[in-house]
Amino acid sequence: MNLIFLGPPGAGKGTHAVRLAHELGIPQISTGDMLRQHVRRQTALGVEAARYMDAGKLVPDDVIIGMVRERLQQPDCAKGYVFDGFPRTLAQAEALSTFADIHAVVNLLAGDDVIIRRLSGRRVCPACNGTFHVRYLKDPAICPDCGGALVQRADDAEETVLNRLTVYHRQTEPLIAYYRQLGLLRDVDSAGEVDANYLDIKKALNLA
Ligand code: ADP
Ligand code: ZN
Repeated sequence: MNLIFLGPPGAGKGTHAVRLAHELGIPQISTGDMLRQHVRRQTALGVEAARYMDAGKLVPDDVIIGMVRERLQQPDCAKGYVFDGFPRTLAQAEALSTFADIHAVVNLLAGDDVIIRRLSGRRVCPACNGTFHVRYLKDPAICPDCGGALVQRADDAEETVLNRLTVYHRQTEPLIAYYRQLGLLRDVDSAGEVDANYLDIKKALNLA
């Protein structure tokens, strides 16, 4: 199954995409994670991308499309994949349609107020790639899964969060109409609790 998770930053795309991909035994493809790896390794792509990411802006389409096209050629994608954070513009969606066949698009719904609350409290673990909210942590600095040190992503700072939301509304939201028209969209409310959301997603995909 070839899936896309769509929704504003902080709607839970990452959390659910990782879980679902794991359950289905197919890779989760997060363009954000791929970009952050490039930034960490300081590749040419990473150095260019960091300028956009730190400002909460989108990395140029040609960079992203090339990266994804290459990723889909890896053998682990043969049985399917779950996109998380891609496509994010109409140009990316149109390019994708020329080299991939998408079966369903999960559209996670969450209002701006929920997003801002979630992202400003978000902490990530660079060691195991886990994502947590300070509200649910015993110790806000320690990863409950692996004991690693938690950090706040640079782009989760409040001003950048507001930028990312504006970018989402302007550039990514049009994809909702695009995929709805293709009959692929599955709306799922993501304001509530994580496990309940996950079950709703599986139901929307006829997997539960
Ligand atoms: P979130 O969904 O929480 O905003 P991501 O990890 O998906 O976080 O993305 C982080 C940043 O990486 C984005 O703000 C953007 O700069 C860049 N990025 C990720 N995916 C894309 C994409 N498909 N197109 C353009 N930029 C992207
Ligand atoms: Zn960890």
